[in-house]
Amino acid sequence: MYPSLLTPAVRAEAQALPSGELPCYVHDLSGLQQHAAAVRAALPRTVELYYAAKANPAAEILAALAPWTDGFEVSSGGELAHVRAAVPGRPLAFSGPGKTPDELAAALAAGVDRVHAESLHEVRMLRALASRTHVPGSPPTRVLLRINPAVPEGTLTGSALTMGGPTPFGMGTEDASEALRLLTGDDCPGLEPVGVHAHLASGLPAGALLGVAEAVVDAAAGLSHRHRTPLPEVGVGGGMAVDYTSPGDRFDWAAYGAGLDALARRHPGVRLRVEPGRALTAYCGWYVTEVLDVKRSHGEDVAVVRGGTHHLRTPAAKGHDQPAEVVPVEPWPHPWPRPAAAGDRVTVTGQLCTPKDVLARGLEAAGLRAGDRVVFALAGAYAWNISHRDFLMHPPPGFRFLGGAEDSTCQVMLT
Ligand SMILES: *Cc1c(COP(=O)(O)O)cnc(C)c1O
Repeated sequence: MYPSLLTPAVRAEAQALPSGELPCYVHDLSGLQQHAAAVRAALPRTVELYYAAKANPAAEILAALAPWTDGFEVSSGGELAHVRAAVPGRPLAFSGPGKTPDELAAALAAGVDRVHAESLHEVRMLRALASRTHVPGSPPTRVLLRINPAVPEGTLTGSALTMGGPTPFGMGTEDASEALRLLTGDDCPGLEPVGVHAHLASGLPAGALLGVAEAVVDAAAGLSHRHRTPLPEVGVGGGMAVDYTSPGDRFDWAAYGAGLDALARRHPGVRLRVEPGRALTAYCGWYVTEVLDVKRSHGEDVAVVRGGTHHLRTPAAKGHDQPAEVVPVEPWPHPWPRPAAAGDRVTVTGQLCTPKDVLARGLEAAGLRAGDRVVFALAGAYAWNISHRDFLMHPPPGFRFLGGAEDSTCQVMLT
């Protein structure tokens, strides 16, 4: 068992929200800002912190994170336009495999700060676009080559998602060399190769992720050395672990920051950048819903809640039980008996007509009753925005954002 997963304010929301306004995503923006401030403080000053917007691109989240981050990583033309509008003027780095010519043209036209080029073809496309559109005298677009280098055996072991190895992401050493040659030629106006980017693994603890960072920095140094070209910016990606089975455990930002500091000292002249998504926003969101029905099915207690994986796909996508807590609600409005769990452990499903619509198995919820609230935690990242929202045409959830920019509690962390 873990200590309470809910803040008092979220618990109060869960109790107070009427059934008709459930399910509802509740976000704690002041908690998010405190967390982001602590992450920022744990990283060396020289390391840049970008937020990977795809983890949760809600405008309120982006605005809350803006003061604590150096920029935002976007992975599509849609994200680029959305983030630019939500946090105008903040630096953006544009990644993602399969960028279309239109997306690249829009990125150049919008004056995006950095493009992470994912392939040789993309570099050629960028060159063609820039040579047509670059206005002499205006600043060039900075390009980082997204690489997918061979890394020492075991470096990516244990990751939940692996972007290194045979995947659509980034380019191998030979293509990176050719890309750098193309970008450093005299015939390449409007583009400036400034560094290397990689995002090789997701879901690693601090020690393992430092190994990844070291491998990326080594690959960047090799490329820079072979081409006698400075590559001062090295993005080492995101992927800081969130442990859904043990929500009280947090990624060790202090150890990671100290390790990055040591790495940076070994490579003077290199500016490191990290771009976490999940580990920044997972903890600031809750999916609040109510139990519609409880039944005994072949000897097991099953509770059906309003909503389901079409709102919160995270447990289905990752194959885990979403951590949750019950908030009891009185009274029961009907004259007939209130359906209730007979045992201590309950499987919690949603309303979809598929056996895959399971949010949590074996939730400790002795006596769970219809009408009680179930609050799923760690629902602030890769939750609503990765969900198959139109399946079965249930209504969408509501959204509430507690606290926020005007809240001053986050200032305490910096002093
Ligand atoms: C998704 C993504 C991230 C963030 O990954 P997390 O596992 O959420 O930290 C960072 N960089 C790139 C390029 C990504 O695609």
